[in-house]
Amino acid sequence: MSTQQNTVKLPSGDAYPLTGLGLWKVPQSACADLVYTSLKLGYRLLDGAADYDNEVQAGEGLSRAIKEGTVKREDVTVVSKLWNTFHAAEHVEAACRRSLADWGVDYFDVYYVHMPISLKYVDPKVRYPPGWSYDGTTTGKLEIEDSPYHKTWEAMEKLVDLGLVRNIAISNMSGGLIMDLMRYARIKPAVLQVELHPYHAQPNLVKLARAFDIHVTAYSSFGPTSWIGISDSVVAKCEPLFTHSKISKIAKSHNVTEAQVVLRWATQRDISVIPKSSSEARLKENLGNESFDLTEEEINIISDLDIGLRFADPAAIDPRLAIYA
Ligand code: NAD
Repeated sequence: MSTQQNTVKLPSGDAYPLTGLGLWKVPQSACADLVYTSLKLGYRLLDGAADYDNEVQAGEGLSRAIKEGTVKREDVTVVSKLWNTFHAAEHVEAACRRSLADWGVDYFDVYYVHMPISLKYVDPKVRYPPGWSYDGTTTGKLEIEDSPYHKTWEAMEKLVDLGLVRNIAISNMSGGLIMDLMRYARIKPAVLQVELHPYHAQPNLVKLARAFDIHVTAYSSFGPTSWIGISDSVVAKCEPLFTHSKISKIAKSHNVTEAQVVLRWATQRDISVIPKSSSEARLKENLGNESFDLTEEEINIISDLDIGLRFADPAAIDPRLAIYA
């Protein structure tokens, strides 16, 4: 079964799907089969990152689907992200080449700077992916590196010049940093990936990105669900979106699931989503979010749930990482 997915056009002319598959927290043991199955089901956007520690396995799933003729390489938007320890200009190309080799592809469709956070370099021979703390332990110290974003961006632009990456992109950026980046970027960011869900709708950031022709991709579309066990004190501040009476009422009236309503609230406004799931039924369900339309009133009801609640805040790790403060 293969489904044609809706796409938006990036400034490079490339098509970028409105619904894709997120790969964060997908265990290595399940990743190849998950990627392969998702491609069979019609997914054409794979959102990976060096930090997810599963790029080799994701690449195996992709290459199996290509070998069997399910997809061609050019049909799939393959995404990776530059980790925080590789921001210094001299490390950007090597980090990208490592991710390319792991995926087994010779270019990325989209390559993000994962965060506007620069950490001290860790040699991949010592530890890969490097994670947050300098010594690799959960209690270890975090070492900041003085590498300004504009230098990292220049090195990202070089990846496009070299043909290693088709579109460079930003993630976890606030408005002020985007404004600054737009002043010096020779190659503009094509996509902004941020936490975005009904409890954190980010209307002004979306408007700002659109003013600069930057496409927006939402992560953690299901709000608290992905953050159980990670940010429990924040999770406790809200009701799961899947049982929220307003979402359930809308879902019932369209005969769809709450998950589909939450995803459609984004995709109908041309914001891409990349829900992560490991069950085939949910993969289908999530991909099916574009098969119905919400009314404008329903979109507004969902947007009104916004309480500015952020689950992904690196400040929880270290106050020097308070990028949203
Ligand atoms: P998500 O909102 O996709 O939620 C995933 C959770 O929802 C999982 O527990 C899954 O089992 C459950 N789920 C999936 N489909 C469901 C359905 N139909 N019904 C009920 N439950 C369902 O959260 P996420 O993984 O945090 O975000 C998606 C992707 O975004 C990630 O996998 C990753 O690729 C990306 N991401 C990027 C950043 C970044 O810093 N750029 C940060 C977080 C996530």
